[in-house]
Amino acid sequence: MQRILSLGIIFLLAGYSAVAQAVVAVRNDYQPQEIKQQAEYYAHVLGLDSTVYILISFTPRVPEKMKGFTRYHDARPQGGGHQVHISISKKAGRSHQLRTLAHEMVHARQFVQGQLVQCDHTHFSWHSQACERLDKLAYLDRPWEQEATKVGASLHEQFRKQSQNRLASLH
Ligand SMILES: [Zn+2]
Repeated sequence: MQRILSLGIIFLLAGYSAVAQAVVAVRNDYQPQEIKQQAEYYAHVLGLDSTVYILISFTPRVPEKMKGFTRYHDARPQGGGHQVHISISKKAGRSHQLRTLAHEMVHARQFVQGQLVQCDHTHFSWHSQACERLDKLAYLDRPWEQEATKVGASLHEQFRKQSQNRLASLH
C-alpha cells in the first residue's frame, strides 16, 4: 500500500513537471485563451520550458508584407530567463495569424537554443556560422526561415488534428 501511494506521488510530481513549461501571455487579441492554448501546445512540443517567457502581441504595426516577427532577449544574466516577444499582425486573417504563431514559435526555439543569434541590428548567425547581413540573403534562402516554415506548418497541422480529436470525443 505504501509503495502504491508513493508511486502515485511520483506520477503526480511527474505531471507537475510536465506542466512547468513556458510562460505565455497574450496582449490585444479578442480570443486570448485560444492563442494561449495553442502557444502552450507549441511550446510543449518544441521543448520550451519554464525559463522561457513568451509575450504574444497583436498589433497593426507589423511591416507591410509581413504577418509577424519575433524578438528575443536573453535576460538570464539578470535572472529574467529567456524573453521572447512575438508580434502578429492584427490586419491578417485569423487562419494566417494562427499559422504565423506556429512559425514564430519555431523562431522562439531557434533563439532560445542558440541556433539563431542576432549579431547586431542587421546581421544574424545560424548554427555558429559567421554573421550574415540579412538583406544579402533572400527570405527563402535563410535556413532559419526554411525550418520555421516547415516545422511551423507541421506543428499547426498537429494542433488542428489533436483539437479535432478532442472535440470529437466530446460528442
Ligand atoms: Zn520567419
